[in-house]
Amino acid sequence: MLTALHDCLQDLFVVPSCPICKKVIHTHQHADQPCNDCTQKLGLMERGLRGATPVRFNAAGWYRGKLRREILRLKLNQDLSVLKAITFALRRTLPAKALLVPIPSWKTQKRANPLPALICLSLGRTTKTLLKRCRPTVGQHHLSRRQRLANMQSAFAINPDQQSWCVSETPIWIVDDILTSGATAREALNTLKSAGFGVRGLICLGRTP
Ligand SMILES: [Zn+2]
Repeated sequence: MLTALHDCLQDLFVVPSCPICKKVIHTHQHADQPCNDCTQKLGLMERGLRGATPVRFNAAGWYRGKLRREILRLKLNQDLSVLKAITFALRRTLPAKALLVPIPSWKTQKRANPLPALICLSLGRTTKTLLKRCRPTVGQHHLSRRQRLANMQSAFAINPDQQSWCVSETPIWIVDDILTSGATAREALNTLKSAGFGVRGLICLGRTP
């Protein structure tokens, strides 16, 4: 009874607003949902931006313009409510029993990219750190695509802490912030597949055009 009253009062006094631009929303919609304006400006797609090359993937949108700026900002401010709004459509298309595996960063803990783990959190599915980096790879920026692929050879291994995890029936999605050449994603995917895991593809925020 009190809870019902509390919810009712909250509806009356908390003005619903867009998690991204904070503008007041007049229509009834989910608290995590971005407003129509932000959806359009960021190019967020209703069922995600899907593709099969270089790996099967589902992204929130193209990594360009406003979405690119928002992703870069997220790396610094790690605002979970903004992230939840950007991944809103991805979350809806993901099976409830999906298992998420974030791609581990090769930088030291302090400079590590916080986004893969944070995206898993925003997607609200079981998350396991099945992968670990098994050797430091050279920074990718100055390498050609072929060099990048070579550079990624056996960059991952199954995390020994997680080796007992039995997931034959569970659909796995690997999670990263941006899909570019796909070298990292493919390597992560192959490592999991050779260990017997059933990997469906990659979930990410942005796909480079
Ligand atoms: Zn908005």
